[in-house]
Amino acid sequence: MSAAGRHFLQIPGPTNTPDRVLRAMAAPTIDHRGPRFAQLTAEILEGLRPVFGTTEPVVVYPASGTGAWEAALVNTLSPGDRVLCFETGHFAGLWREMAIRLGLEADVVPGDWRHGVDPAQVTDRLAADPGHTVKAVLVVHNETSTGVTSRIPEIRAAIDAAGHPALLMVDTVSSLASIEYRHDDWGVDVTVAGSQKGLMLPPGLSFNAISAKARDASRTARLARSFWDWQPIIEANRNGLFPYTPATHLLYGLREALAMLTEEGLPQVWARHQRHAEATRLAVRRWGLEVLCRDEREFSGSLTAVVVPDGHDADKIRATVLERWNMSLGGGLGRLAGRVFRIGHLGDFNDLMLAGTLSGVQMGLIAAGVPADPSGITAALERLQRP
Ligand SMILES: *Cc1c(COP(=O)(O)O)cnc(C)c1O
Repeated sequence: MSAAGRHFLQIPGPTNTPDRVLRAMAAPTIDHRGPRFAQLTAEILEGLRPVFGTTEPVVVYPASGTGAWEAALVNTLSPGDRVLCFETGHFAGLWREMAIRLGLEADVVPGDWRHGVDPAQVTDRLAADPGHTVKAVLVVHNETSTGVTSRIPEIRAAIDAAGHPALLMVDTVSSLASIEYRHDDWGVDVTVAGSQKGLMLPPGLSFNAISAKARDASRTARLARSFWDWQPIIEANRNGLFPYTPATHLLYGLREALAMLTEEGLPQVWARHQRHAEATRLAVRRWGLEVLCRDEREFSGSLTAVVVPDGHDADKIRATVLERWNMSLGGGLGRLAGRVFRIGHLGDFNDLMLAGTLSGVQMGLIAAGVPADPSGITAALERLQRP
């Protein structure tokens, strides 16, 4: 493989960091207790709210998304509390395991990793809990391991239909700023997000958007918390400060990424992702392959997981694409290892990047001996021809 040209990073996160963001980060460190920093904090906290669709506080952590998962749980729950989880994929499973390690009891609704959360199951499970012992419902909005997006408004309605007071916590690590999301309007209590996917930043920041109800719960929650505690952060933020040294350069990058999202407009950002996802699915089907997601209401805008025909190894195809065309694709996680590969089409991404990505996938399939119809790329281009 020649090192000329650029690498195609088409995994579903971390995503490509735009040059504008990289340049914004190439700046001197400033005093994190000085007036310039206070200005930066204020701008960022203001700019984040519309991205989450909230008027409530957003807490920023110098941590990966996993840290924000922990923050959501330890701020609101007490030892032995029950949480309702769904077996939608690898990330839902990791969050559930974390809940158990933290001393919570996790009820699991089984799933086949090809569907999102079924709202009817939410109502059934909660209606069967008249004593309200379930304290939170944990949902991964976009399952990055499967390319399936759960329908949050319907899940909210399902909780309400059961008349149940459980908190709704939603992981948007691979959907925020790429798939439509509205923290306030959809009645979400804690939204978990990360920097390195739709927000187009390098890894290293994560977020909690917090409803008034979740903040109330945090006043009596008894799981041990210190670094993750919302309260001291929200208080310090009022004066433009953090209770510890913040990740200054990632915050420079975040300010620039927020500016880019504002310039494009969030509805346009969401539509761009949908359109690229649609073109990708057209190519996959024309190749004669299967999209993992089974329900068209749940197709992901940020990535597509492709099922590889029996007798072929998805990881060999990925290795071929990397070796010959210098492109990284996502592998199958957990039980999907070797059976699927994942095409990331989120973040700083446009039509010709998608065309290049799908060309690489098509050549990789053919090189690996997968019988793929080479007009797959044409099917995608026909879609991209139209706005
Ligand atoms: C990437 C991802 C995570 C994990 O985030 P880290 O930054 O790797 O800790 C959690 N949930 C989802 C849905 C993800 O896509």
